[in-house]
Amino acid sequence: MVLKKDRNSVDNGQGKSENDDTSLLEKKNLENKTKFKTPPLEVSKENDNENGFLDFGFNQSILNSLRNKGYKNPTPIQKAAIPELMLGRDLLGQAQTGTGKTAAFALPLIEKLSDNKELNAKVLVMTPTRELATQVAESFKSYSSESSDFKTVAIYGGTDYRNQISALKRKVDVVVGTPGRIMDHIRQGTFKINGINCLVLDEADEMLNMGFLEDIEWIIDQLPKNKQMVLFSATMPNEIKNIAKKYLNDPAEILIKSVKKETQLISQKFLYVQRHHKLDALKRILELNNEGVIIFVRTKLLTTSIAEALENSGHTVAVLNGDIPQNQRENTVDRLKKGFIDILVATDVAARGLDVERIKLVVNYDFPFDKETYTHRIGRTGRAGRSGEAILFVNQRERHFLRNLENSTRTKIEEINIPSNKIINEKRMEKLIENVNESSLAKEEYEENKALIIDVLDNLKEKYSMDDSNIAMAAINLVIGNKAFFVNEDDSWIHKQNNTDRNRSNRNGNIRIRNSNRRNNYQNDSFETYKFNFGKFDGVRVANIISSICNSTNINGRSIGKIQIFNDYSLVDLPRDLHRETKNKLKKIKVRN
Ligand code: AMP
Repeated sequence: MVLKKDRNSVDNGQGKSENDDTSLLEKKNLENKTKFKTPPLEVSKENDNENGFLDFGFNQSILNSLRNKGYKNPTPIQKAAIPELMLGRDLLGQAQTGTGKTAAFALPLIEKLSDNKELNAKVLVMTPTRELATQVAESFKSYSSESSDFKTVAIYGGTDYRNQISALKRKVDVVVGTPGRIMDHIRQGTFKINGINCLVLDEADEMLNMGFLEDIEWIIDQLPKNKQMVLFSATMPNEIKNIAKKYLNDPAEILIKSVKKETQLISQKFLYVQRHHKLDALKRILELNNEGVIIFVRTKLLTTSIAEALENSGHTVAVLNGDIPQNQRENTVDRLKKGFIDILVATDVAARGLDVERIKLVVNYDFPFDKETYTHRIGRTGRAGRSGEAILFVNQRERHFLRNLENSTRTKIEEINIPSNKIINEKRMEKLIENVNESSLAKEEYEENKALIIDVLDNLKEKYSMDDSNIAMAAINLVIGNKAFFVNEDDSWIHKQNNTDRNRSNRNGNIRIRNSNRRNNYQNDSFETYKFNFGKFDGVRVANIISSICNSTNINGRSIGKIQIFNDYSLVDLPRDLHRETKNKLKKIKVRN
């Protein structure tokens, strides 16, 4: 089986790309070289009034749902992938979330299933996490919302089997799920797979990182041989290429060079802060930007303690962590989308795949474990072509990680200072003036209340002999309220911290590590070995252990260290700072039931 054929490299259409300097002519040549029946790549010439999806031959129900969603033109990955998938070809796509890849595979699959009358599922989509499974299932549901009798079911761990089983018993077109739960349902016979004629592996590299390779292969082996296969991955390591070689049949290859462009829309910054000043620094950052913020922390315990502290400071906050039941998580995301809450404090696993357009700021309160986690985290902002900001908190011992991160992402992360009292007070003043000014411009409400306002003014003038300027001053005083308007806490620690930290960097901006053993000590110190009483004799494999740990706790697959499986026990290296609750959950972990 040969892997390769067409390599179509396009930008993600949501900002400047590495190819932006490519002239239109070159773009056209590129397009002519491909055998895709895609509409022109000249995104700039597309007419807003026309529906760019008409050319694909979708049925009216799909076009209606796209119109409801406000999609006018396909993104580059959609232009490239949809015609191939409509022809039934296998596809290997390198693209990240945010490029529109879900619609790229969902729309042609919905189209192909438009007359499906069979009871059992035809399409299986595998995702690494339940969050992504929910999100992909939601996308299928919304793209098929105008198609009658189209059913998508999501099956993932951490939730009750019963609802999933009864949903699978009824008519199903598409099943979206995580590997562990899919395997369980196949084994129990509650997921009938004999009708599956298309398999999509979404975020395949992530599934590999989480140790799902064997599970994926097991599932593929159970499915009917004759099927269309689609594999999407943000990166293309050799393991993914090998899977593609093994299972995909002459696939169309699509590369969306999006890593750079996506993050280009995100302005990446860091600030030095000592551990005990982190919460203070966070509150100061939120003074400048507090609408649509996600704060990433390492433990569940921290999510709640930080959320409480922020709530006490007057913010509307919610928490997203592995302890929160799935339906509540969905509800939280919904409230964030609608603006009922402004700030989300989350752990990595809980926020994976989260897609909320109004996120303007991502705060990396705790340093991410690796580059991929960082990229995923900051990718929660800068969605759908909007710009965003990401701020990374760095403490003394994380300095060299910062440099590694800059090197591996090939991005310069700009240093900023923790906002001082002066900056915050200027901002508060600016905001007050803006608010008063905006209130006079908010014509509708102003007009509505005008008669009332005039009445109040007349009363004040007659009854209390106040003049215009007295009244204006009193009204502004009312807006200010009775809390201290300016911050005047001692902020000398901020200046000291900035100065000392700068002194620690040499002139080239490189960090001098005074004790070169520190890094090793830190890395060794950050793990603790846990013993579990299951092993080879129980048929346990590395992937089973990783998926059980990830599904039962908020521990991220990437933060799991060495795993050694012996005959009747296993040793697993896990982060040292685990919360007691997590440890309790670990005690109860079941592997392969
Ligand atoms: P994805 O890469 O699938 O996670 O999609 C990223 C975001 O882009 C989601 O919010 C989608 O709803 C949105 N999106 C996908 N395709 C289009 C399109 N053609 N026009 C506008 N928005 C889109």
